[in-house]
Amino acid sequence: MKIAGLGREQLRIIPVDDHFAMDAGALARQMAADVAAGFTPAFVCATVGTTSSTAVDPVAAIAAVARRFGAWLHVDAAMAGSAMICPEFRALQAGVEQADSYCFDPHKWLFTNFDCSCLFVRERGALIRALSVLPEYLRNRASESGAVIDYRDWHVPLGRRFRALKLWFVLRHYGAEGLRHHLREHVRLARWFADQVAVHPDFELAAPVPFNLVCFRHRGGDAGSEALLERLNGSGRLYLTHTRLDGRFTLRLCVGQTHTEASHVEAAWAAIRAAAEGTAAPAG
Ligand SMILES: *Cc1c(COP(=O)(O)O)cnc(C)c1O
Repeated sequence: MKIAGLGREQLRIIPVDDHFAMDAGALARQMAADVAAGFTPAFVCATVGTTSSTAVDPVAAIAAVARRFGAWLHVDAAMAGSAMICPEFRALQAGVEQADSYCFDPHKWLFTNFDCSCLFVRERGALIRALSVLPEYLRNRASESGAVIDYRDWHVPLGRRFRALKLWFVLRHYGAEGLRHHLREHVRLARWFADQVAVHPDFELAAPVPFNLVCFRHRGGDAGSEALLERLNGSGRLYLTHTRLDGRFTLRLCVGQTHTEASHVEAAWAAIRAAAEGTAAPAG
């Protein structure tokens, strides 16, 4: 919104359900209210695997609303999009075929060195009409014949690095089945960790675990969870990040690195329990 110059006062943040997924009914009501107030809803962003908690927005329901109002639908699957190489995860983004654009980042969860983001567009004409500039010195027969795709017209800068090459090497090295194997293993390890958290009396899960991220808290409250984070990250042995869900301090453990195995996740859980014994604040 800022880069397009539309201004943040034109941005609508849509309420979420108790799993932190967008409420498509609230989206429809907001868009109808905006139309009634003389605004033109133009762009809807659904997220498959939000940054904070990997919540999954209901893409099919959101697509129906976006279409009704003639808005562009972008689906942001920055991290979770990698999981879609495994057929068993694709139901989580049902309706994605109705999107106008879709992106995911192989640099997040597909073993490709930073940076490498993939953007798909349904109809490239809109992008090219908005972004193409054609000074005389860029004119050439190949472009004019329509036989080539000039990716310079798909983004803001003119120059671009050959990022696809390193992704190509990753695909060749692991193969599709190899990549699926690693992603499934990461999800399995995250679920194992979530199961340990769920049954431990001092911890609780803070969000569902559809992919490889586990959001959890110490039952001692925000102070306990925050002290735990500092102690663990200060140890240099593992690294957790945090977020706020329902206004509460939440720890995040993500399994996604190339060489992470069960022994690492088990060691992380042991370290977390040991640190909690030293830092637990009184309940409440
Ligand atoms: C990480 C993340 C982004 C940012 O992606 P970049 O391509 O690295 O800028 C955007 N959306 C979601 C959901 C993310 O998880």
